[in-house]
Amino acid sequence: MESTIAAISTAYGEGGIGIIRISGEKAKEILCGIFTGKDNLEDRKMIYGHIKDPENGEIIDEVMAVYMKAPKTYTKEDIVEINCHGSTVSLRKTLDLVLRMGAVPAERGEFTKRAFLNGRLDLSQAEAVIDLIRAKTDKSFDVAMDQLSGHLSSKIKELRKSLTDVLVDITVNIDYPDEDIEEIMYSDMYNSLSQINDEIVKLISSAGTGRIINEGLKVAIIGRPNVGKSSLMNALLKEDRAIVTSIPGTTRDTIEEKISVRDIPVILTDTAGIRKTDDQIEKIGIEKSKASFNNADLIIFMVDASRTLDDEDMEIASYIGERKAILLINKTDLAREADTEFLIKMMPQCKVIETSMTEERGIDELEDEIENLVYGGQIRQEESLIVSNARHLQLLRDASAALGDAMKMTEMEEALDFIEVDVKRAYDLLGEITGDSVADDIINEVFKRFCLGK
Ligand code: GDP
Ligand code: ZN
Repeated sequence: MESTIAAISTAYGEGGIGIIRISGEKAKEILCGIFTGKDNLEDRKMIYGHIKDPENGEIIDEVMAVYMKAPKTYTKEDIVEINCHGSTVSLRKTLDLVLRMGAVPAERGEFTKRAFLNGRLDLSQAEAVIDLIRAKTDKSFDVAMDQLSGHLSSKIKELRKSLTDVLVDITVNIDYPDEDIEEIMYSDMYNSLSQINDEIVKLISSAGTGRIINEGLKVAIIGRPNVGKSSLMNALLKEDRAIVTSIPGTTRDTIEEKISVRDIPVILTDTAGIRKTDDQIEKIGIEKSKASFNNADLIIFMVDASRTLDDEDMEIASYIGERKAILLINKTDLAREADTEFLIKMMPQCKVIETSMTEERGIDELEDEIENLVYGGQIRQEESLIVSNARHLQLLRDASAALGDAMKMTEMEEALDFIEVDVKRAYDLLGEITGDSVADDIINEVFKRFCLGK
């Protein structure tokens, strides 16, 4: 890797400062050719000066520049960063000059790719870098940070180490079948494999939480008109100080809001109901309601405790069927008219919460329930590992399937060579997560997701 790469590393557009980053053997030489402060350069020290075109003496910008000597840098190569004024003109002109001096434009993610290829980060850590940049909620930032710190990597290494132990046992027994070297008990092997698989399954199940943390929990509020859906929406909004968007729907009552509940991003839809209608406008709303209802991770079914239940309530209840739902019995501040016991019996899987929007009762309990759902009822632990990357998830699933096959064969006491193939496969699949055993095209694919300059 002889080439020296350069790119604008800050966001495009107007800003206080903008940074040109250069990485590679010629980084320092390039800077010295265009920087008036070059005589003061010291490792890791910001130096003031001007960027000057050596051909015509034109001053391009007044900057602060820093030279960082390899290998203790982001890429493990020599790095130079030039802090320009944040105008696109100055950045573009400075970059042009840097390229003229012998650097080549960096590809997307190439700085991080070099960090990976030079062994500073493994692949899952490199992927965490892009997740960090893209993180839109505190929680998804935390998850990416955790992954960058190598938490997932060390877990994967641990699992691969355990698989290596199994593989060694198998090899010993294949190579010296007649000798009395500790015959593997198939049941011991089965137990080892199943323990490893349990851990993989645990990681797989954390991915549900990972997806919600990144994309948001989709919650549909459903209930007949006037039960208090909009009031609930407002109550939840009021608790949240970080409203991201507010998209009014086309019909009177379909509204989507992105809020955060206990730090969990939630996409909340107030549905227009699902009753049959001949009204064209209303029909569109109902189709939308059904769509958000069908896509929801969680349904909040609201009924009005102060009115007798009607056909529409029953229709909604049967529409919910066995879906994950919370039954909110609202308006409990008024005299009770609804036969809610009947409804509760109809939907035994539902958690029931009694609320009053006017008296602001039950909202905390609802938030508890949402939190419980996302964290799978487990206590939310800071150190719990969450898989949030689709590539990792797929590899974990494949590895688990391979181990499942190996376990089946172990149970049937099949030939060790066959079992070895599947165990080895699981081992390699896990290695693809950290990049220990991964093809170049996958590496390229991963770094294509990056932005320029990172
Ligand atoms: P939606 O049609 O389901 O969205 O219902 P709204 O949220 O618009 O509420 C309809 C009416 O019920 C409004 O006048 C609210 O103030 C009232 N309301 C909502 N929740 C409660 C509650 O818990 N108790 C009482 N007494 N009134 C409520
Ligand atoms: Zn409403």
